[in-house]
Amino acid sequence: MHTELAPYAAQSQTSRGRLHAEPPSVARSEFQRDRDRIIHCAAFRRLEYKTQVFVNHEGDLFRTRLTHSLEVAQIARSIARNLALNEDLVEAISLAHDLGHTPFGHAGQDALNDCMRDHGGFEHNLQSLRVVDVLEERYGAFDGLNLTFETREGILKHCPPNAACELGDVARRFLDGGQPTLEAQLANLADEIAYNNHDIDDGLRSGLITLEQIEEVDLYARYRREVEAVYPGIGGRRAIHETVRRMINALILDLIHTSTERIRAAGVASVDEVRASLPLIAFSDAMRAEADALKRFLLENLYRHYLVNRMSSRARRVINQLFSSFSAEPILLPPGYQLKGGSQEAQYRKIADYIAGMTDRYAMREYRRLFDVEEM
Ligand code: MG
Repeated sequence: MHTELAPYAAQSQTSRGRLHAEPPSVARSEFQRDRDRIIHCAAFRRLEYKTQVFVNHEGDLFRTRLTHSLEVAQIARSIARNLALNEDLVEAISLAHDLGHTPFGHAGQDALNDCMRDHGGFEHNLQSLRVVDVLEERYGAFDGLNLTFETREGILKHCPPNAACELGDVARRFLDGGQPTLEAQLANLADEIAYNNHDIDDGLRSGLITLEQIEEVDLYARYRREVEAVYPGIGGRRAIHETVRRMINALILDLIHTSTERIRAAGVASVDEVRASLPLIAFSDAMRAEADALKRFLLENLYRHYLVNRMSSRARRVINQLFSSFSAEPILLPPGYQLKGGSQEAQYRKIADYIAGMTDRYAMREYRRLFDVEEM
């Protein structure tokens, strides 16, 4: 375990800084300050009521975007400490990575993207950056949270070229082919470790996937056998948890080992060299293949389960109808979202911001308020 940062770790003192210059914090590093700003913002609190896979009210034990983000931060910090990377930065990126998600999970994002197709589209990574750069209203001197360059570039995981041209420095790597910091690369893979494993747990808990099905997945079956050898006859939820925690551990250890080797082989000695190198945070080929098989299993058996499809279909209807009503009659929007004298395109973007910011239950409430005659 490391107490000092590696030379290739991001350092608060050499951050590329904030869009609006601010005096340094007295008691915190710049990345700690970013993390604190994220935890205190409104979009972070809304994560509690946004769907990961299961709609928020379907059960109290399922992951929400908030608990998902906390799990990502936990996994990312454990790995960061082992690689002597900057824990504060991975924590800030992890906690902010899903801030731009719409209500109703991926179904909501796809529906909003369809609505916005002729108006620049909608993409949750870009929206996460928009939340922290523009939409949060907490400071007298600027819009957004004014986070450091490194946290912002970590939030922006993907970016199409046309958007990258508009965003400038923070998106330059999508045009030049460079890499972000190792902390950003790490937060991305911690996200994958978190959702693959908690979706098994939630999928089994919901009954949408069965134990017989999941044992077809090599990674699960291997650790399930190990659990049986240690605790013969163990069953039920304890067997699932003992198996899933071994899987998480195996993925984390593989990532630490493989990334250590890749960093050593690349010989990087600074963040600039990391940026010019190939991606260095990675699973071994064997573990990558097993993780991909697990992802495929979840896609086929959970994310495309007919009951999940029904939820997605209802979500699409809610988002589509909200969007078309607000577009046809912007006077139905709360005053802060009505653009007086702005362009029609700017009004569409405002509507997308309003819908994307909704929690699942707020979106359903808005839907009822607009369309349910019983509510009149
Ligand atoms: Mg995520």
